Amino acid sequence: MRMSRFFLPILKETPKEAEIVSHRLMLRAGMIRQQAAGSYSFLPLGKRVLDKVCAIIREEQNRAGANEILMPTIQSADLWRESGRYDDYGKEMLRIEDRHGRDMLFGPTNEEMVTDIFRSSVRSYKDLPLNLYHIQWKFRDEVRPRFGVLRSREFLMKDAYSFDIDYESSKTAYDRMFVAYLRTFQRLGVKAIPMRADTGPIGGELSHEFLILASTGESGVFLHRDYLEMETPGEGVDFNDAAGLAKVVETWTTPYAATEDMHEAGTFDALPEADRIAARGIEVGHIFHFGTKYSEPMNAVVTGPDGKDTPVFMGSYGIGPSRLVAAIIEASHDEAGIIWPKSVAPFDVGLINMKPGDADCDAACEAIYAGLTAAGQDVLYDDEDTRAGAKFATMDLIGLPMQVIVGPRGAKSGEAELKNRATGERTAVPLAEIVGRLS
Ligand code: ATP
Ligand code: MG
Ligand code: MG
Ligand code: MG
Repeated sequence: MRMSRFFLPILKETPKEAEIVSHRLMLRAGMIRQQAAGSYSFLPLGKRVLDKVCAIIREEQNRAGANEILMPTIQSADLWRESGRYDDYGKEMLRIEDRHGRDMLFGPTNEEMVTDIFRSSVRSYKDLPLNLYHIQWKFRDEVRPRFGVLRSREFLMKDAYSFDIDYESSKTAYDRMFVAYLRTFQRLGVKAIPMRADTGPIGGELSHEFLILASTGESGVFLHRDYLEMETPGEGVDFNDAAGLAKVVETWTTPYAATEDMHEAGTFDALPEADRIAARGIEVGHIFHFGTKYSEPMNAVVTGPDGKDTPVFMGSYGIGPSRLVAAIIEASHDEAGIIWPKSVAPFDVGLINMKPGDADCDAACEAIYAGLTAAGQDVLYDDEDTRAGAKFATMDLIGLPMQVIVGPRGAKSGEAELKNRATGERTAVPLAEIVGRLS
């Protein structure tokens, strides 16, 4: 992509309304634009990161055996009356009436709808286990939308729903998603720690929230230091091995970790002082096991091996990709701007032509651009005729992992500079070696 054709509305001034660093940086880097309170457009740079986040989530959901579907955003109130949640949900739900006077709503979550899909076609235990997920916009009329896409009213959620014949197998479904989440967050380049959580309006008896530690987080968290060093299961993890999965979950839930709502000060304070971390965290994922809470009232039953009908056991598993984009920035930035983990960077490489119009610079840049692109690298080529200082500032602000800087003197003598955004390290490299170094 050439900068001259890329829509990148960089802001020079720091926006006053933005209270925290990720919101400031996302606005300054032209990633998002506010359309109304708690409602944002994702502009090209932001959309690229959001897509990468979703792609990793999707890969790990698929690896764990979940099936992707896509349910509508607008739902019928009748389904929610069946579960009893239509009246319970309260003011966070955006209620809508259609032209025929029917009650509709903009979905804040999809337990009812997915249960309806399930009961319409699954009858036998032989079709289980089943996990259906989608990545779809949700609306919650938050009392206090704030911090940009960290707490917006319209936001993207990946929500998965598991269906099983009994408690034991649905606990395995829960473990499967727990492990998939550990892998997902690691691939996104963040440390998200599972903590015992309150189940809130979703209900149920078993639940964990995944939180990224950040001083701007809205939740107080208390955890054992061991979590910072714990190992994430590798790509080869067997999602059919119930005992293996349970073991991973046990390892990851044994040291103390709780959000303030679930905190037991006595237990925590009994730990050696050096092991105790009291910090703040951002909730980026939340998984629930709630058994037959929805299947019973909605009559979603399956026939078991004994020929008897039983309500299906369910769990639901949410991750917020739009919130994650901001949360990753909260965890990874410096004074100059964003520092993207490689896996979610909007481009792999930023190529800076310090003097467009200079024949040597132009030729060197075109060759590097073509070579990197052919090698499968995503390159943002700053081919614009602007001040070198502004080019450097923009490239640092948008946080691409590697920069290639081509100036007239270097181009003439056959050299360019490589800069690592995270470490700031700069090295002079012969032009002919640039592509090889970066691919
Ligand atoms: P919070 O405690 O922050 O209000 P929640 O507990 O209400 O979140 P869940 O119902 O658990 O949220 O939804 C699953 C995930 O959806 C959350 O872990 C989060 O990543 C994301 N999410 C929820 N609300 C928002 C929001 N207002 N803006 C962006 N993402 C959100
Ligand atoms: Mg909420
Ligand atoms: Mg919460
Ligand atoms: Mg939650």
